[in-house]
Amino acid sequence: MPIEAGGVARRSELLRQGLTVNEIDQARRHGELQRVRWGWYSLPGADPAVIRAVKAGTVLSCVSSLKRHDVWTRDSQHLHTRQTEYRQRHKRVRYRNDIKVCMAAERESRPCAGPVDSIRDALLTMLECRPGWELTAAMDSLLNRNRTTHSELWDLLGHRGGKAVKALSQMDERRESGSETRFQLALESEQISYQMQVRLLGYRVDTLIGRRLIVELDGWSAHGTRKAFENDRERDRRLAAAGFHVIRLTHQQTMEQLEAAMVDIRTLIRRREHLRRVPL
Ligand SMILES: [Zn+2]
Repeated sequence: MPIEAGGVARRSELLRQGLTVNEIDQARRHGELQRVRWGWYSLPGADPAVIRAVKAGTVLSCVSSLKRHDVWTRDSQHLHTRQTEYRQRHKRVRYRNDIKVCMAAERESRPCAGPVDSIRDALLTMLECRPGWELTAAMDSLLNRNRTTHSELWDLLGHRGGKAVKALSQMDERRESGSETRFQLALESEQISYQMQVRLLGYRVDTLIGRRLIVELDGWSAHGTRKAFENDRERDRRLAAAGFHVIRLTHQQTMEQLEAAMVDIRTLIRRREHLRRVPL
């Protein structure tokens, strides 16, 4: 059973892989296979999210599938899924509690190859379900790790309307996190020009606005250790002494309170703080 599918497979897939009907029955009796729903089985240790999706008559898709494929996505309180073809034609699965059946499934009929959508199918579902910046952030994440190319993404989404084209035209493979994508797209939407990943005093800063306004985007993973805490303070002190103005935004502030941060950044820009000369 394919591990990348979260340890869940259709009976037909098991038979295709060479298991016999007897072997499947035997494995069920010994608890090596569990029936998830009619025609679907799971291995011990299978991903509970995949089991929940299949149990609900859907497959894992959209941001939940991308997360499994280790692509950056914004956290969601729901499990994002789409309906399998059979269910699509015969019975509509209700939106229940923490499972969201994303729109794409109802708009077009795409076969589900397994219980976890491929990255391509998940991006197509995401285009219908999530805001454009999140799609750009997911694509930035794929590009940054050399898992796809600009032209492959344009081939997949370039003919799918204005939202897709806008998300594609804003991609940048240099971005290393969704926070960077979200913040920089907010700057672009207000025509605030910036440079990303600039080297100053030997440090690489995330975003430089004008000559001297630095905005650092701090995720827990990179900045949550004691050593990082120490390094960040030293770096801020040295940059301030050199005449730079440093602002730090946490992941939470970038994702949930971006407008409040933008108000302050606009205030600094109005005062032309970003344009003052840095006496290097
Ligand atoms: Zn979704």
